[in-house]
Amino acid sequence: MATTYSSLLDYDQSVYFNASQYEANKAAYNNEHAVNGITNWTASSVDAVFRSVGLTPLQHYEKYGAFENVNPSDLFNTSSYYSSKATQLSETTGSAWTSTQVESVFQQSGIDPISHYALYGVFEDVFPTTTFASDKVTYTSADHIAASNDNRVDSLVTTTAWLFEQPTSWNWNDLASTQNNTLYYMFPTSATTVESQGFSATNLSQFTGFNQNQKTGTQEALTELSKITGISFVETTDASLANIYMFGSDIGKDLAGLADAGSQQYKITVAVNSTSSTTTDLRAGSGDHELIEHELGHALDMKHPFQGSVQLPKDQDTSNYTVMSYTTPSETWYSASSSVYGPYDIAALQYMYGTDGLGGNQGFVKVS
Ligand SMILES: [Zn+2]
Repeated sequence: MATTYSSLLDYDQSVYFNASQYEANKAAYNNEHAVNGITNWTASSVDAVFRSVGLTPLQHYEKYGAFENVNPSDLFNTSSYYSSKATQLSETTGSAWTSTQVESVFQQSGIDPISHYALYGVFEDVFPTTTFASDKVTYTSADHIAASNDNRVDSLVTTTAWLFEQPTSWNWNDLASTQNNTLYYMFPTSATTVESQGFSATNLSQFTGFNQNQKTGTQEALTELSKITGISFVETTDASLANIYMFGSDIGKDLAGLADAGSQQYKITVAVNSTSSTTTDLRAGSGDHELIEHELGHALDMKHPFQGSVQLPKDQDTSNYTVMSYTTPSETWYSASSSVYGPYDIAALQYMYGTDGLGGNQGFVKVS
């Protein structure tokens, strides 16, 4: 991997840090804590203080705001990041870590959460939480996800219909009442298994079951998605129970992958092109990991940012911002193997599902 950390860091800071949002958040913090005995702080009075002490807003965040739990933008929640890192440390070290302990280690080490994410978190599946995860939106009948009116989200969320704007009458959040927070996935070993679940035989020619490097890469991407959304993905060999079926088939020479809904509700296929040699390894770090992230993004209701009524501006329609783009970034450190879900993917996924998955207190929740 040809990653140079400084360019990755510059990039992540530019995406996850927004000076005007930070100054507004810092003003709210100052008012809440009556900093300097004042409770009428504004973004511009905060800005004036930064200037008077010779710090840019980003330098202020790195030095102070990160340890006051002020958010650097609406794409990055500082205190949630400490909490995610504490969870990851508790899981990997076997001893219990608290957010406060993580925060104080960061502070002593002189590293702020955005820099930590760019340098380490992306490789540890410690993903940031956005402010989009804080809202619970209820709906009553099977329906599509309503628009957020934020272009970064709506360009990736199929708000008017499911995948590629084909109408269907369901979304995964409907399943919370029957499957709790679980989506079942399967690596079928025969085309007839998939066909029996309502999928067209014409999409199943040259069927091949996934090899181990394809399975591993898929499971790595599912782990990322689980860390971002809180959805639990469980492997099954029961075809009638499965929601997502993954395999290779001849999907046409121009396509590397294809996600498709069949005739039954709550079932989709994710196929990679079995006639292409580049799809035989999907592992992070060595294979075409971005391909499986992209197709699983579709599987979770994301669309391409260059199609549909809401699209991303050209300069943001790259894999730096979203794996749903077709445009490879020009930066030399970029590689499809080292791909992780981008900031806009995280925003869109957390808008739909929150960080607590199907049902729960965030994202779209069906009520009967
Ligand atoms: Zn696609």
